Amino acid sequence: MEREIQKIKLQVTKCTKCELSETRNNSVPGKGNYKADVIFVGEAPGKNEDVNGEPFIGIAGKKLTMALESAGVTREEVYITNIVKCRPPKNRVPTTDERNTCQNYLEKEIEIIKPKIICILGNTAFNSLLNGNEITKFRGKIAKKNNQLYFLSVHPAATIYNQKLISVLKKDMRKLFKLTKELKNGKEIKIDIEYTS
Ligand code: SF4
Repeated sequence: MEREIQKIKLQVTKCTKCELSETRNNSVPGKGNYKADVIFVGEAPGKNEDVNGEPFIGIAGKKLTMALESAGVTREEVYITNIVKCRPPKNRVPTTDERNTCQNYLEKEIEIIKPKIICILGNTAFNSLLNGNEITKFRGKIAKKNNQLYFLSVHPAATIYNQKLISVLKKDMRKLFKLTKELKNGKEIKIDIEYTS
């Protein structure tokens, strides 16, 4: 399993499949526990991530770590990745083409790790994975598509400029890990949104 994840990391590191490879400093493969119950999926690397080649290490990353800690969870217990693995110039939202070109890496990460639940962070991941919009309306909910469970939450970057969202993110993380524990104990989970295809 570890070898398969390492293989994807290497492919991402060398990838030139879309135009983001021309402006990045480093690709940013997913990072974390390859036996994780939860995979977090954000939008794209930012400036710090691009410089260091690691996901969620800037201010947004600190917010996520803080929210995880409030749920009694460390970064080492989870796996963190993004919809696109290279930074879009000036942190613009990745285009549909870029997302589609990069999606195979995320699909492979999910296939290898087989998480109990995928935590979607923000609108871009919501839109890319479940064709959703307006994450603030749907955050805190559980969705199911093709037998995979998803938990919806806000992007940690959104909490930087909106202080109220920090408590929202923390609340969501506490709910997410309570659910994860229940799933591990075989408890039935109430699905809020069920996708038929
Ligand atoms: S964003 Fe994805 S598809 Fe595009 S170059 Fe980076 S790794 Fe490759």
